[in-house]
Amino acid sequence: MQWLVAESVWWGGRLRTGVALRVAPNGLVKPVPAELAPGGEDTRRFAGTLLPGLVDAHVHSALVDLGTVRAGGIAEVWDLGGVPARVAELAEQAREAGSALPRVRYAGPFLIAPGGYPSDRAWAPAGSWREIVTVADAGAAVAEASAAGATLIKVTAHAGGPQLELPVLSAVVAAAHASELPVVVHAEGPGTVAAACSAGADVLAHTPWTERIDDSLLQACAQRMRWISTLDIHGWGRPDDPDREVAVDNLRRFIGAGGTVRYGTDLGNGPLPAGINVREIRLLQSAGLTPDGVLTAMTESGSSTVSWLPGGLDPDPERFADALATARVLDADSRLHSS
Ligand SMILES: [Zn+2]
Repeated sequence: MQWLVAESVWWGGRLRTGVALRVAPNGLVKPVPAELAPGGEDTRRFAGTLLPGLVDAHVHSALVDLGTVRAGGIAEVWDLGGVPARVAELAEQAREAGSALPRVRYAGPFLIAPGGYPSDRAWAPAGSWREIVTVADAGAAVAEASAAGATLIKVTAHAGGPQLELPVLSAVVAAAHASELPVVVHAEGPGTVAAACSAGADVLAHTPWTERIDDSLLQACAQRMRWISTLDIHGWGRPDDPDREVAVDNLRRFIGAGGTVRYGTDLGNGPLPAGINVREIRLLQSAGLTPDGVLTAMTESGSSTVSWLPGGLDPDPERFADALATARVLDADSRLHSS
């Protein structure tokens, strides 16, 4: 057992003092009253704030340097599109003690209609997508992805090319749910968000940006889906990007309807900072998230990684994003592992 003590701890949705983190031998971290920490060499002390490991829920690890991403403060990533066998190797390396890589959770190949997005894109190598036609194909593809270690199923619904029939999309969701795997949909263009929602998908890989989502569909989405933000891919900080304005408006109304947001940047797609993205955080705030809401979108309950803000969390909405960008991933203490 290891104990982490800091001036403050952000955990379970709020900033607390008088709390220590207990790290179980299996790596699971739990907040406990600070007086339970025994002191001595099993207790590590920190200035500032400790919080669950920060997660970027939309990354393409083949297109970025994951070591730089971790050095930039991201403890865990979801890879939402690569060659699964390659990503599995990175995920394996990331699990080794003392690894400089963030933890990697990954999706299976993009499940697509024959000729569908992204098989027509230069960045999508063979193996990163798999064509399916029938309901039986859907079951087989999910089983293959799961056997290869994927814990997310990625599907595309892109109005600019061939799309899966709704019964096939629904069959993907049913098969994934039977294996307790969430389904992430890349929804792009008219009708695609509605298709993802009626098929029962769990997550959108991007906040919808191609059109305003009407209120009734938005309500349905808010009840059953999480949306990964990816707001900063629109313009990368350029003022008045129309797609970004549509996305922020959709996300603001999704949040207002009680929807759950995950912080994600689509890292690997365009000139994005390799690490915590201050612009993405500010855009989440402009869509209505409080600092606690942003941290909730960036973390997971049951975390086994810890991030550290040496200067402490700054809850002031104006300063919050810049302060959070100084977060570092806490390295496991090798002394405790070797004994
Ligand atoms: Zn992506």
